[in-house]
Amino acid sequence: EPSHGFIFRSKLPDISIPNHLPLTDYVFQKFSGDGDGDSTSTCLIDGATGRVLTYADVQTNSRRIAAGMHRLGIRHGDVVMLLLPNSLEFSLSFLAVAYLGAVSTTANPFYTQLEIAKQAKASAAKMIITKKCYVEKLTDLKNDGVMIVCVDDGDDDVVSSTDDGCVSFTELTQADEKELPKPEISPEDTVALPYSSGTTGLPKGVMITHKGLVTSIAQKVDGENPNLNYTASDVILCFLPMFHIYALDALMLSAMRTGAALLIVPRFELNLVMELIQRYKVTVVPVAPPVVLAFVKSPETERYDLSSVRMMLSGAATLKKELEDAVGLKFPNAIFGQGYGMTESGTVAKSLAFAKNPFKTKSGACGTVIRNAEMKIVDTITGISLPRNQSGEICIRGDQLMKGYLNDPEATSGTIDKDGWLHTGDIGFVDDDDEIFIVDRLKELIKFKGYQVAPAELEALLISHPDIDDAAVVGMKDEVADEVPVAFVVRSEGSQLTEDDVKSYVNKQVVHYKRIKMVFFIEAIPKAVSGKILRKDLRSKLETECSK
Ligand code: AMP
Repeated sequence: EPSHGFIFRSKLPDISIPNHLPLTDYVFQKFSGDGDGDSTSTCLIDGATGRVLTYADVQTNSRRIAAGMHRLGIRHGDVVMLLLPNSLEFSLSFLAVAYLGAVSTTANPFYTQLEIAKQAKASAAKMIITKKCYVEKLTDLKNDGVMIVCVDDGDDDVVSSTDDGCVSFTELTQADEKELPKPEISPEDTVALPYSSGTTGLPKGVMITHKGLVTSIAQKVDGENPNLNYTASDVILCFLPMFHIYALDALMLSAMRTGAALLIVPRFELNLVMELIQRYKVTVVPVAPPVVLAFVKSPETERYDLSSVRMMLSGAATLKKELEDAVGLKFPNAIFGQGYGMTESGTVAKSLAFAKNPFKTKSGACGTVIRNAEMKIVDTITGISLPRNQSGEICIRGDQLMKGYLNDPEATSGTIDKDGWLHTGDIGFVDDDDEIFIVDRLKELIKFKGYQVAPAELEALLISHPDIDDAAVVGMKDEVADEVPVAFVVRSEGSQLTEDDVKSYVNKQVVHYKRIKMVFFIEAIPKAVSGKILRKDLRSKLETECSK
C-alpha cells in the first residue's frame, strides 16, 4: 500500500474528462459538429403519453425554453425551482436552466406548502416551474414576487394558466432559439442545487457545479467498461424521482451523454412499468430496494416479457442479499449492478465489469470505487486510514464532489476536510476484491425507501409545539420502508399531550415519508456535554421498547 496511508482506487485507469465544458456542451458532445451521434435517434419517451423527442428535438426545445426564461428575466446565476414530477418538461427545463448558466433547485412536488417555501426562500428561487395541481401551494411565494410557470395538466380547459397570474409553459417553448444569449459559463458555476441534510442538521442546498456533474457522469459512462456502460442502443427506464440526484445524474444526463433513450415514467406502478418494459423493450432498469421488493413479491411478473432487460441497477439504500438474489430470477437476461453515492459526493462506487466473465459481483456489495477518484476508510475515532476488511467511515475525493453547501461554510468544512476528502457518514469496508460493503450509518439521516428524512427538521417542528419542551427523532427499522422516523418527546409540565396530538401536529406539515410513525414520551433527551443528542442511546432504547 502507498506510504501516505491506505487509499483505494479503481482498477480502471483514469481517463481524461472534458470537465472544462459547460454541462450541456458535454452532454450533447456526440451531437455537435464532429460527433458521431445520430440527432434523429430517440432521446426521451414520455411513458404516460407515448410522446417521443429526438436528440435534435430535445436540444431545440430546451434552447427555446431557455430563450423564453431569458425573456422573463432569468440570468446567469439565477435560481429556478423545478417542482415537477418526472416528465419531458422536467428534463427540458433542467437543460434550459443549464444553457443559461442558471441553477436548478429540484424539489419533490408532493412537498407541503411549508417545505416548498423553505427551500424556495433558502435558495432565493426567482422562478418556479410546476404543474397546475401544485400551484395552490405557491400562492404566498407568488405574492412575494416569485414567477410561477405552469405546465398544463391537460385536464383543465376553463381557466387558462395566465388567468391565475402564472406564465404558461407553452409560452416559454414558443420563444425563438436565436434569442438565447451565449453566457460565459465557468466550470465552477453551480448548475444544480438539490437539498440534502448530509451528515447532520437541516436540509442544505448542495452546490453541484458544471465540472462536478460532468465529472460524475464521465466516471460512470465514459471510457471502457463494456458490460455496464450505457450504449446508444439502450432504453433506460426512469421512474426514480428526477428531483433526486441519482436519477438526474446517473439516469437522465448519463443516458443523454451516451445517446441512449430515456423512458420517463411519472411514478412507480408495477404493472404499468412491466407493460412499458415489454412495449419499449427496455434494456436498463434502475431501481431502489423497495421497488426490487415489489418485483420479487409480484406474481404478475410472469405475464410480461421482461427478457429485453440486460441490466438492473440499484442504489439509494442498502439492498438485502436475499432480495438481490430473488430478483435475478424474474429477469432472466439481466445482470445486477449496484451504485452507491450521496447527493454531496456524486457517485462513490458502482459495479464494475472487469475481466470477469460471466459478470459476477458479490451480493450485498455496492460496487467498487469509481474511476478518477480516491477513496479511504477512516477510523471514526482516530481518523487514521484503514486497510482492507476493516470498517470505518467512507471518505471520497475527486472533481465530482459538490462545491459546498449554499451559504453555509461551516457545514461545508464539516463535510469536506482541508485535504479535500468528503466524509460520507457511512460506515463500510473494502474486501480483497476491491468490493465495498456498507455496514452502518454514522450520520443522523433516516432513509425511508431511499428518500431523505432529516431528524433535525422534524425535531424543529416538534419543539415549535407549545407543549413540547424537547424532542429527538431517530430511525426505526422497517420491513418495507427500510427505516421510519419515530420521536422521543419531553412534554412540558402538566401537559396531557397524546401520541396522536404529536403526530397530527407534525404530520400535516410534511411530505408523507417524513411522517412520524411512533411517539415515546420520556423525561429527558439523552445528550452529550456538548448538547449533541445521543442518538445511539435512543436507538437502543427503541430496541428495548419494541421487544417489550
Ligand atoms: P442521498 O444524498 O439522498 O443520495 O443519500 C445518500 C445516502 O444514501 C448515502 O450516504 C448512504 O447512506 C445511502 N446509500 C446510497 N446508496 C446506497 C447503497 N447502494 N447502499 C447503501 N446505502 C446507500
